[in-house]
Amino acid sequence: MKSMDDIATPRRTKEIIQRHGFSFKKSLGQNFLIDQNILNKIVAAAGLDETKGALEIGPGIGALTEKLARTADRVTAVEIDQRLLPILQEVLEPYSKVHVRHGDVLKLDLQEIFREDFAGLDKVSVVANLPYYVTTPILMRLLEEKLPLENIVVMIQKEVAERMAASPGTKNYGSLSIAVQYYSMPELVCVVPHTVFIPQPNVESAVIRLQVRETPAVQVQDEQHFFEVVQASFAQRRKTISNNLKSRFFTKENKDQLDPLLQQAGIEPSRRGETLSLEEFARLSDVLLAAGIS
Ligand code: SAM
Repeated sequence: MKSMDDIATPRRTKEIIQRHGFSFKKSLGQNFLIDQNILNKIVAAAGLDETKGALEIGPGIGALTEKLARTADRVTAVEIDQRLLPILQEVLEPYSKVHVRHGDVLKLDLQEIFREDFAGLDKVSVVANLPYYVTTPILMRLLEEKLPLENIVVMIQKEVAERMAASPGTKNYGSLSIAVQYYSMPELVCVVPHTVFIPQPNVESAVIRLQVRETPAVQVQDEQHFFEVVQASFAQRRKTISNNLKSRFFTKENKDQLDPLLQQAGIEPSRRGETLSLEEFARLSDVLLAAGIS
């Protein structure tokens, strides 16, 4: 068995990278973690143990992967960059329960990965230091596919984490907050300094935990319509909900129907989208649908 020294020390990371002639690709969001405390915090936030599985997106040179391998029953790590595969093979050689898959997490069949790699496990977490350029598409895919996930613990851009966890009536609250909170309960775990990465990203970072809900936060007649109403309500943040919805769903001829429908849903037409809770959006979406507005 090879040395079990931690990968995520500045010295060992540099040594591995240099020996393999690896160069960072900014376009793939490659900012590797070199801090044991942060890695331990991320793994602890997922609440893993030997009965649970972990899916990592973007293992890089395996710093987080080895921590997951020491904690979970099984680990699958999906990496897009072929140049990292020989490094991962080398550094993860001591860990038999890690399966590295090469590919783009946005294109791979995740349902199949779950069936093949996590069969028999009740609880699986996604744990990752995500590539920031695709944070939202990755998280929305994981949530919308309704995978059997317990939670998602990820390092992301701080500003995006704040938008995901925002409450109604605050400046960060918007369609992203609603989409994420529909499927999960977000919680900011910690804000992270630039110094824990190599190379250092030029945006601030934070770890967020999304506790995945077994059923969505609100029940709606038509999910797609609900999200269309949400999108339309935030189309122009300075406009009232009434004006935003008129632009999206109504014509000159029928626009007078809207304010009574808003009132029927218990919503003052002069309010702005950013003040509405998920429950209010759900009521509104159902009232509009029942009136044939879609
Ligand atoms: N987990 C490592 C760490 O914390 O040190 C690396 C994290 S780095 C921020 C993001 C990783 O995601 C890189 O290894 C990058 O190559 C990989 N990546 C980028 N886009 C990806 C995609 N679409 N699918 C899978 N992996 C991707």
